[in-house]
Amino acid sequence: MATIFTFFHEAGHALRAQLNLPITGKEEDAVDELATLLLLEMPQGVYVAAAAAEAFQMMGKKKRASKGKKMAFWDDHSLGEQRFYSVLCLMYGANPKTNKGLVDKGYLPKERAQFCPEDYKNKSRAWQTILKPHFTDLVLKSIAKQKGGTNTQPKLPTVTTAPKPPAQPDLPKVEVPAGVGPACQQAVPHMLRMVRTLLVQQAPANLAEFDKKLPTELPNIYKICQRKWTEAQKKCVLAARTALSANTCFQKK
Ligand SMILES: [Zn+2]
Repeated sequence: MATIFTFFHEAGHALRAQLNLPITGKEEDAVDELATLLLLEMPQGVYVAAAAAEAFQMMGKKKRASKGKKMAFWDDHSLGEQRFYSVLCLMYGANPKTNKGLVDKGYLPKERAQFCPEDYKNKSRAWQTILKPHFTDLVLKSIAKQKGGTNTQPKLPTVTTAPKPPAQPDLPKVEVPAGVGPACQQAVPHMLRMVRTLLVQQAPANLAEFDKKLPTELPNIYKICQRKWTEAQKKCVLAARTALSANTCFQKK
């Protein structure tokens, strides 16, 4: 169950990066918050949040037992126990009546719990403000409807992804010349895709020419890879994420 939380946490990082969302404070805390807020809007999501909180607490205890005084206070994640209380606070804050047991049974100290309903409201509103420019009209309408319909808290709407960019045609299909090993069979198309992406971004006028030449050039590139690239260079290219960084694989040291 806690892995579902991890999925939302990682999706939060991706969303932050993709949409360039403004965030202050620790990003790790922010995406924990978003994951929790989203889960609390979903049927059964509260159970996932609870499972994640429990996992954080266990992780925290285990680390403390093994690291003792060498605890990683420098870590970009908050300590396991802190994450435990943060998730619990939002769970309680979202619904103090239903989740009263968290306080009554001593999981969430009263000292913290008293601020949680306000905290939940603020964080929920903050995330709505941050994400609002990216919502589709449909979602905005559904928020308006919720606001007009009841006097309860507006719900954090389901996050919709931005429209996909039009699919890029992939590299033309070219037969790999005989004798080209698996490392080159992977590294060469990977590098050419990165080059193509660079062209799309920085020199779209040259794209047609590139696509036209590729079927004739590609077999040669494969052969060059096979004959001249070192194993380290093949690996380096395959690990690169942009054509520019792949380029550094060939710089003499
Ligand atoms: Zn993270």
